[in-house]
Amino acid sequence: MSDHNHHTEPPSEIELKVKALESLLVEKGLVDPAALDALIDTYENRVGPKNGAQVVARAWTEPEFKDWLLKDATAAIGSIGFTGRQGEHMKVIENTPTVHNLVVCTLCSCYPWTVLGLPPVWYKSAPYRARAVIDPRGVLAEFGTEIGPDVEIKVWDSTSEMRYMVLPERPAGTADWTQDALLSLVSRNSMIGVEIVHPPKDT
Ligand code: FE
Repeated sequence: MSDHNHHTEPPSEIELKVKALESLLVEKGLVDPAALDALIDTYENRVGPKNGAQVVARAWTEPEFKDWLLKDATAAIGSIGFTGRQGEHMKVIENTPTVHNLVVCTLCSCYPWTVLGLPPVWYKSAPYRARAVIDPRGVLAEFGTEIGPDVEIKVWDSTSEMRYMVLPERPAGTADWTQDALLSLVSRNSMIGVEIVHPPKDT
């Protein structure tokens, strides 16, 4: 079996059928393309990553959960109720002051759907897939993320058999924050590893 078979490229036939259905529904006036875009945006940016943020905030505040998460992410995440396709085998890797982790799927778009929702377009793009491995610091810089030269950057290549999520570092100034408050700080991109979680702005 070639390595490529471990990945989940969408069957083009299904993509074509979906496209055909969408065109037909739009043509008949049964759906509004803007409504479809809004629906996709919801899963890509809002509903999906909130699950991951919940996992992160819990790991930040409950040391036992964090240990479990780093040892057996599939079970720890499943215990909160986030299970399903594209999340069967999960590994969570922790950012520390000496290691920054970055997730990519070099061959297609394997992604932990159960905790992050749908992958963003750039994650599936050829330039990100190629450059994340060759020039991770350059990619991070494009996201406005500066990682110190003394910090090692590890790149994790997702497959359909193992999907990665980054546990970002808990930002300074949040020691007395509740899990719910912490949730709002955790971005999708920080769980892919292209950004860090920034300390709350003084108000
Ligand atoms: Fe893949």
